Amino acid sequence: QPAIRIDNLVKRYAGTGSGDDKLALKGVSFDVPQGEVFGLLGPNGAGKSTLINILAGLVTKTSGNAEIWGFDIDEHPRNAKRSIGIVPQEIVFDPFFTPFEVLENQGGFYGIGKGERRSEELLRAVHLADKRDAYARTLSGGMKRRLLIAKAMVHSPPILVLDEPTAGVDVELRRQLWELVTELNREGVTVVLTTHYLEEAEQLCDRIAIINHGELIANKPTRDLIGMA
Ligand code: ADP
Ligand code: ADP
Repeated sequence: QPAIRIDNLVKRYAGTGSGDDKLALKGVSFDVPQGEVFGLLGPNGAGKSTLINILAGLVTKTSGNAEIWGFDIDEHPRNAKRSIGIVPQEIVFDPFFTPFEVLENQGGFYGIGKGERRSEELLRAVHLADKRDAYARTLSGGMKRRLLIAKAMVHSPPILVLDEPTAGVDVELRRQLWELVTELNREGVTVVLTTHYLEEAEQLCDRIAIINHGELIANKPTRDLIGMA
């Protein structure tokens, strides 16, 4: 069973007038194998965020199917959501909460009892143990991004999805985030990331799917894709 199965997915955004609907996904199909780092590569406007937002339950698909860990996102939305952790592009937490509180609150949100939470362990995993009690607003941009990743992992999903994790970050931070993704994958997490950097996809991903204008134009193991260039 693949970690994620996308089958003929279509998304049409309604326009403001007649005839200006936007077909953001035009029948996209692919599988994400378990245990891989899967890269969804494409320019701005290709449909990457739309696809991620459908998996996250934030955008409703027009037609087609999506399964997460074997759960259809429409028939079993709760199970699907529990199987996936989403790292959004924007940094979204209260600046006056500490990293520890951010993770504890998220645990509560998922109904994880105080005794079963693993906030400390997650802080160590993203190298933020020494910032446990600092206000989130005092963290550097890189620390905030790492906290977002820990937050997405609170309910121990087998799949982690990162939407443009390194857009607009400097070289050093990009390297740190790449390392973290690699560490999580080594521990067994299936990773999906979107990017518009070919180099990032080549460095990190076992497999790369290329999307453009809402259509999948390639889907290959990274070594085969590079062999073509
Ligand atoms: P990417 O993440 O690859 O940059 P998006 O999924 O954000 O691509 O966008 C795909 C296309 O759908 C773009 O043409 C974008 O303008 C359009 N789009 C995205 N969100 C909406 C929306 N809420 N309403 C209308 N059009 C949208
Ligand atoms: P990105 O793909 O980098 O997230 P976008 O500019 O495509 O950035 O999208 C930013 C936000 O604006 C998203 O929430 C998307 O749904 C929305 N959006 C994008 N394009 C349109 C559009 N044409 N009409 C309305 N909303 C849009």
